Amino acid sequence: MPLDPARTVAELRELRELTGDENGAQRVAWTDTWEQARDWLRGKVHGTGAAEEIDAAGNQWFTLRGVGDRALLIGGHIDSVPNGGWLDGCLNVMAGVEVLRRIAEDGEPPLTVRLVNWADEEGARFGRSLFGSSAAAGSMADQDELRAKVDAAGVPLPEAVSAHGVDLDRALDARSQLANAAAYLELHIEQGPVLESMDLPLGVVLGTFGVERHLVTFRGQAAHAGSTPMDKRRDALAGAARLELEIREIAKRTGGGAVCTMGGVVTKPGIVTSVVETAECLLDQRHLDAATLASMLDEAKRASERFARDEDVAVEWERIWNIEPILFDDALIGLADESIREIAGQSHRLPSGPLHDAAEVARAGIPTVMLFVQSLRGLSHTKLEDTKPDHLELSVRALDTLASRTLAHLA
Ligand SMILES: [Zn+2]
Repeated sequence: MPLDPARTVAELRELRELTGDENGAQRVAWTDTWEQARDWLRGKVHGTGAAEEIDAAGNQWFTLRGVGDRALLIGGHIDSVPNGGWLDGCLNVMAGVEVLRRIAEDGEPPLTVRLVNWADEEGARFGRSLFGSSAAAGSMADQDELRAKVDAAGVPLPEAVSAHGVDLDRALDARSQLANAAAYLELHIEQGPVLESMDLPLGVVLGTFGVERHLVTFRGQAAHAGSTPMDKRRDALAGAARLELEIREIAKRTGGGAVCTMGGVVTKPGIVTSVVETAECLLDQRHLDAATLASMLDEAKRASERFARDEDVAVEWERIWNIEPILFDDALIGLADESIREIAGQSHRLPSGPLHDAAEVARAGIPTVMLFVQSLRGLSHTKLEDTKPDHLELSVRALDTLASRTLAHLA
């Protein structure tokens, strides 16, 4: 079968009919609908001759034996968030199926080629993203926390995954899957507005942002809103408000894709008749360069201390979570650029704000690259998520070209 990108678009629509409803995609991992999608995928790969295996973390692998044992991996995730879009994750998988069909048709490839459908990328049910890929990468280190997680209906995570054949205590056995991996490719919708604003269908992803998340707490003094003169107040919210405006300037000054977000502020006592005593701010900062991210964090800290002095309040910082930037492979980035130029004329290099399974694979030391295809209006995780059909077809062609070039590069 020669490559037929229109078939990928038709199959994505078929999957949407099968596993979505009027509110969007419903393929939440560790549910019957997700299992139905995996079963449907099995049927689609059947006929390529690829052998299926579900690993210890629930990842679904399809292996097309090649001349050598070393393997080219192509990955995606068929799980979605509740009321999700029709492309996030499953475009990658279905484009991979089409590439697998083309390679199988061409005869035994120089390397083994494996398609992986990662288990629970979204973490929608238990709040833990990248479950399957972090197990395969060996970076899953939170089994104790995972054991204690329950979903909204009170079902414990170990029980939910065991219903789909996964023993949480053995999930890290999935590590053996990456033993022969020579390269990892992943196509994904951009989920942002950059490519659309540049009127480009495709881009190469340089890596995923490093993230610093902190709880920043300003502490002042609660006092009566009527009896406390303006110059006698120790207003914690004043510090928080000034910091919120300042982080936007920090991101602007830093540039290079820097983003800073104050995602929430909780004030106490939080009543209309009192000056705010404490303001707890949730701060998220991201950049592709580790040193730049560290200096953005430092700037925000110094600014908060300045505002605290000005407002006669105290400020303290507590780290909630952080992750280093994860950079993709230079040689593969070059091949991806060439592939996109061949298929679409012009390429663009951009960082990824969201994390992806590809970041876990790269973290495990496997040379990795991602392709982004334009998202309309930058929307995802909603039924409004969309990409033009001709761009979807171009993305399948680009992934196929990249797979060919990577096989030639590795052979
Ligand atoms: Zn995704």
